[in-house]
Amino acid sequence: MCGVLGILGNYPLTMARGLLLLLAHRGQDASGLLWVVGNEATSSKSIGNPDRIFVPEIASSQILGSTRYPTTGKRVASEEDLDTFVGPFNVGDLSLTHNGNITNMHSISNLKFDCDTEFIAVKLTQNLTENNGNLPSAFSALQSEVDGAFSLVGVYRGKLFAYRDSHGFKPLVFGRSKQKTIVASESTVLDMAGVPLERDVYPGELLIFGDGGTMESYSISQSLTHSHCFFEYVYFAHPAATLENQLVYDVRFRLGRVLAQTFLKMNLERPDYVVPVPDTSRPAAQAMAETLSVPMREIILKNRYLGRTFIVRSQEERDAMARSKYLYLDDKIRGKIILVVDDSIVRGTTAKMIVADLKKRGAAKVYFAVTCPPQTHPCYYGIDISTDTELIASTTEIEAIAEYIEADALIYQEEHTLSNAIGLKDLCLACLNGEYPTEHARRIREELQEQGASSIERDYERDFSK
Ligand code: SF4
Repeated sequence: MCGVLGILGNYPLTMARGLLLLLAHRGQDASGLLWVVGNEATSSKSIGNPDRIFVPEIASSQILGSTRYPTTGKRVASEEDLDTFVGPFNVGDLSLTHNGNITNMHSISNLKFDCDTEFIAVKLTQNLTENNGNLPSAFSALQSEVDGAFSLVGVYRGKLFAYRDSHGFKPLVFGRSKQKTIVASESTVLDMAGVPLERDVYPGELLIFGDGGTMESYSISQSLTHSHCFFEYVYFAHPAATLENQLVYDVRFRLGRVLAQTFLKMNLERPDYVVPVPDTSRPAAQAMAETLSVPMREIILKNRYLGRTFIVRSQEERDAMARSKYLYLDDKIRGKIILVVDDSIVRGTTAKMIVADLKKRGAAKVYFAVTCPPQTHPCYYGIDISTDTELIASTTEIEAIAEYIEADALIYQEEHTLSNAIGLKDLCLACLNGEYPTEHARRIREELQEQGASSIERDYERDFSK
């Protein structure tokens, strides 16, 4: 998960940085802006959120932006790492940035790359050289070789281009006004720039934008079914974003409504309050509260200014970070039955801590409801849960998870109710059911079964020939 931005049309860099802030929730590891003046591309990158990026007080007619969430390479720890791991990247006439994760980078290239965005930039440059600078041909070659998720935006010889892989894993939308064209991971960026949302970039579609709002569309690769990442709707995307014509807020609300029905079927004691774990689960908690006719109370509050305090290296640090993440309204908890709503349970650390905190403050019972079904498999397409060991549900049954987090009941979303609530047929659900949509990811799973898992490497960064 990363955020990408592309602007064609004279635009102040400080305002571009402001637009990039709307994608900060997609990656807080580091961020970068690149702009072209004349034929020269300049970039400025920063650890953490985009407001730290230094930009001069000038405008540029070609701007790219990126917020990074690390799924290849390490987390950015120093200024030197910025050049190595953080987009946008420039190679010759081409500059680009991308969201997603390439799963076969190490098996199709003899060169060693630290970051898959740089890999795509180098690969595409080679393809452009071999195809006389023809972007559609270069992308055809790229799509036929590369496995994984990639929604990307770039500039090439004065044009802005956008491409979304044939499965359409990660979102990418665009809009045009008379003065400018904007491509971004989420529609909120267009709203803020005052550019109307035109549509999503279709899976397998290459768009090339020129001055004056011209647009060429090329169908590079077509997949019979698409695989939009369901987790965008559950967790990643901003609730105000519209993806595939679905307002994310509405999807989260519907997830809460169906979860309330599951809760009712369990015949549990009526809760006194429905309590969201901030911020993602608020719409779902609201819907559960309305459906169950129980008041919603924001008893758990986020320590908003915690930010990117430290790099998590151990379980001890993870626990410490989790502990400092939330504050509680103590006097609303004693003697109450509380139905907590969260978006997901990954390792179970946060859920266990919240239940313990509420009980320590005198809660009579704590039920824990999760808008995402149990995540049993790692993601190879853009979230950094890259091995089975990071997921409690990969080895533990629901009842045992409830016991582990010490909840009085654990209510999970079901896969079919999740799909219905999102309202799209073509979803990637690989982290729920192990059905990976791409060939190389399936091969990784086979290799893992044969050779066993490594405890230190991401599955897709492992060389199985060793
Ligand atoms: S495996 Fe899960 S998180 Fe990864 S792209 Fe598919 S649905 Fe999204």
